[in-house]
Order: sequence, then structure tokens, then C-alpha cells
Amino acid sequence: MKPLKELGQNFLNDSSIAAEIAALADLKHGERIWEIGPGKGILTNEILAYDVDLTAFELDRRLEQPLKERFGNKLNLIRSDVLRVNWQELLDQSPQNVKLVANIPYQITSPLLSRLEEHRARFDKVVLMVQKEVAERLTAKVGTKDYGLMTIRMQLVFDIEIGLQVNRVFFDPAPNVDSAVIVMRPRQDSPRHRDPELFYRLIHHAFQHRRKTLRNNLLHMMTKLQLAALEKQSRFDLTRRGETFSETEFIDLCDLIAALTYSSESTK
Ligand code: SAM
Repeated sequence: MKPLKELGQNFLNDSSIAAEIAALADLKHGERIWEIGPGKGILTNEILAYDVDLTAFELDRRLEQPLKERFGNKLNLIRSDVLRVNWQELLDQSPQNVKLVANIPYQITSPLLSRLEEHRARFDKVVLMVQKEVAERLTAKVGTKDYGLMTIRMQLVFDIEIGLQVNRVFFDPAPNVDSAVIVMRPRQDSPRHRDPELFYRLIHHAFQHRRKTLRNNLLHMMTKLQLAALEKQSRFDLTRRGETFSETEFIDLCDLIAALTYSSESTK
């Protein structure tokens, strides 16, 4: 079977790494697990060793028969694009929350993270193999080069850590990037912000031109007058770059912008 690049088919070739990935999920008998892209089943096999209720989404129809032959009815196989299935409907088939464990095709990373962000309340744990650079961005600390929009968005709702680094030689064919397994748990202490839409607009603009000051980036989302008012009222030095602002600082700034915007709208 020729691996398809467009489906991100770089298969793990070391079952001890697959076992380590499954171990990171801390699986318990009877738990509800999702896997994306089981491929030839190297990770599937390790997950099923925990006697869990496993649903796997595989897009490549060539893999359907071999997976069915290998795992029989121990595996609920959905032969679909995981981004095209109705997550809400599937999640609602049981009141039980899900753990996701997967070595994903890297080209779906961004839309998949958005999906997880949206449905986070239904996931107890997410263990994902991703490109090493993505893992570094997801776990970055404020003020570092990897800290950015993706960091803030995902860290706002998940506690994220790197569970394992995986060199490219452990894949067939070997990709031209290294990988890492991230472990994400929904945050219990997720901060509340007054206006989520404004918050995402703020961080989007804050990182749009990384080398610019926050002040210059904010000019793309507010008038000079509003910015002057913000500078007057805020405790922040807006000549700092976006990457130096922590989550809490962005939230405070967002609340201030919201207050200013509402008051300037109400005086119109
Ligand atoms: N889990 C296997 C492993 O570790 O060897 C395979 C991993 S391989 C990186 C990614 C797998 O995802 C492939 O089997 C590919 O066919 C499948 N895949 C690609 N795009 C998909 C999608 N949108 N939905 C579901 N599966 C997909």
C-alpha cells in the first residue's frame, strides 16, 4: 500500500512509542476513547489493550478492511473525514466524556484544535502527536518566540504539556519534521472575559505583525481617539510588543477596550 502524502500518512514504526502514547492517556477499563487516523493500527492496538470503548475515524478506504480484520468488533470504525462528521451528534450519543488519543495527519492540526476548543467540555483528556514546532507553540511561555495567537487561544481553555518527543526516524516514511506528543486537559480555572469575540480580535491583531508594538497593531482595530483614551487609562505600556503580554494582561486590556468602546458608542 503506497502511503498518501496528502493524507499525512507517516506511520509510526515503533510499538513501544505507541505504548508510551497510550500510557500518557491514563486509560481505564470502559472509558470512551476516540482515535483519529488509526492507519495500520499500531496505536489502536495499544489503546485497545486497556479494554476501552474505542471509536476511530479513518479517511482512507484502503485501510478499512485490514483494520476490521485485525480488530473486529472491538473497534467502532467510522470511515470518514473527522472534520466532516458531526461532533456534537457523536458526542451526544453518550453522556460519558471522551478521551482523544491520536497520531494525527499534521495538515488537519489547526482545524482539529479549533474543534477541540469548541467541544472542550466533552473531553477529559487529549493526547496528540503533533509537529514539534506546534507542540512548542502550544506550550510556550510569555515573551518567547513561540508564544503567539495559538498559544493564548489554546492555553486559555486547556492545560497543555509535552509528554514525549518523537524523532522523525520512528515514522514510515520519515517526514521532514520531528514530532512531539502533547497532553491537554480542559482547564478548571479558565478565566472569564467579558467579550470573547473582542478578545480573539485583540489577540489576532496583537500578533499580526510580531515586530510591531502593540500600539501600532491596535490601530488596525480601533480609532486613534480610542487608542489615545486607552493609553491614558491603561496601566500598560502599549509600546511593548504583543508577545510580552501575558494572558491576564490581555484579558485586562480587553476589558478596558470593551469599556471604552461601549462608552464611546453610548455617547454617539
Ligand atoms: N495512527 C497511525 C500511526 O500512528 O501509524 C497512522 C497515523 S498517520 C500520521 C495519519 C492517519 O490519518 C492516516 O491513516 C490517514 O489516512 C488518516 N487521515 C488523514 N486525514 C484524515 C481525516 N481528515 N480524517 C480521518 N483520518 C484521516
